[in-house]
Amino acid sequence: MSEQSNKRSNRILVIGGGFSGLTTAVDAAETGAEVIVIEKNPYFGGRVAQLNKYFPKLCPPLCGLELNFKRIRTNPLVTLYTMAEVENIAGGPGDYSVTVKLHPRYVNDNCTACNACAEACPAERANEYNFGMNRTKAAYLPFNQAFPQKYVIDSASCTGDCGKACKEACKYGAVDLEMKAETLNLKVDSVVVATGWNPYDPNKLDILGFGKVKNVITNMMMERLASPTGPTAGKILRPSDGKPVMNIVFVQCAGSRDENHLPYCSYICCLASLKQVTYIREQNPGSKARIFYIDIRTPGKYEKFYGKVKDDPNVSFTKGKVAHIVQAEGSDDVIVEAEDMLTGAKVKVQADMVVLATGMEPSGTSRKVSGVSYNGDGFVLSAQGINAAGCSKNPMDVARSAQDSTSAVLKAIKTGQGR
Ligand SMILES: Cc1cc2nc3c(=O)[nH]c(=O)nc-3n(C[C@H](O)[C@H](O)[C@H](O)COP(=O)(O)OP(=O)(O)OC[C@H]3O[C@@H](n4cnc5c(N)ncnc54)[C@H](O)[C@@H]3O)c2cc1C
Repeated sequence: MSEQSNKRSNRILVIGGGFSGLTTAVDAAETGAEVIVIEKNPYFGGRVAQLNKYFPKLCPPLCGLELNFKRIRTNPLVTLYTMAEVENIAGGPGDYSVTVKLHPRYVNDNCTACNACAEACPAERANEYNFGMNRTKAAYLPFNQAFPQKYVIDSASCTGDCGKACKEACKYGAVDLEMKAETLNLKVDSVVVATGWNPYDPNKLDILGFGKVKNVITNMMMERLASPTGPTAGKILRPSDGKPVMNIVFVQCAGSRDENHLPYCSYICCLASLKQVTYIREQNPGSKARIFYIDIRTPGKYEKFYGKVKDDPNVSFTKGKVAHIVQAEGSDDVIVEAEDMLTGAKVKVQADMVVLATGMEPSGTSRKVSGVSYNGDGFVLSAQGINAAGCSKNPMDVARSAQDSTSAVLKAIKTGQGR
């Protein structure tokens, strides 16, 4: 058990190391606060690290993340923990006691990311970073540019009959199969909860065919398919047979704005689909895309982006809620049926692949942090001393997440000063 009871003023705990958590950490540390970031994954960056490009500039998201990583690496006031989760938060503003569980990584700081352990490892696991669309070894680097550049061993996927091949293969002594879980006791003045979101489970959307109809994927899977670091090295190929996708359908509000699923607008899905239309149109100039929508929502400056995509004659928009998605007879194509709300006509479209624009569900729905308050939808409710930042609080884009994090920093600093 490790102890950290050396209390200082303005000590801030950040839960979640996505864009919001990292922005909170650098902004707070650059004002002189001491910051501890707890991330449950073996890497930092959150969902943004899984995107292919991000609007408004459509640049690779790792550029933006890398700026934060650099600021963190050079700031001694930030302490980072991966594979870490809060077990309990007790106390009050200016005086919180937090218990954190550190899960074993089985790889220590000697790791040079040389890949020898993965080469020697005989066991495989589904790659959750790519939403199961490919596999990694049980000893793996989460992705090429992962921060930290450190392998991890998924003990649940170890076969146990490998004679500890990964340990034998590592000439730096980095593999430590005896590593145990640890408990960390922290004293902090305030907490910022930046636990973000998860894609809504598409299996719950019965009529939309995910898992039953071939070549129905989600918007986050599309991000990975289009990414040069994804399972197809950036080629948008349909999963069932690797055919290049020339004819694609996007289904908006897959779960969002639906009392039976997510009763709110997920804010980002229209923009995400418009962005993904550009992925396919740029990659395959002869391709066609169709978007089924209830309302297209592109707030503020994003309206211009919508206008640009709308001007493309190979992109069409149908206002109507999709009623069914089924497999085409005798092929791997997908049939989408809907009613065109503007004409009243029934529409039936055949496509190579369908993308469900699944909404953003707060992490608090599936995993609540003890000591934190949530509303009925699982979003974090800020309180004095424990503030929410980014998508843990509301669905939002990266720019708004960054602004929101800066405002959480101000509140956290005020709490520390007021003790
Ligand atoms: C399909 C799609 C495309 C998108 N494209 C864009 C785009 O192009 N441009 C744009 O601006 N936005 C885009 N977004 C939105 C963007 O993903 C979010 O704005 C961003 O992820 C918000 O960051 P965050 O840090 O708040 O949350 P997250 O990215 O979810 O990060 C939260 C972090 O907290 C960690 N965590 C969760 N629970 C715990 C816990 N209990 N303990 C410790 N750690 C925990 C998670 O592992 C994660 O690392 C897109 C969203 C979707 C759905």
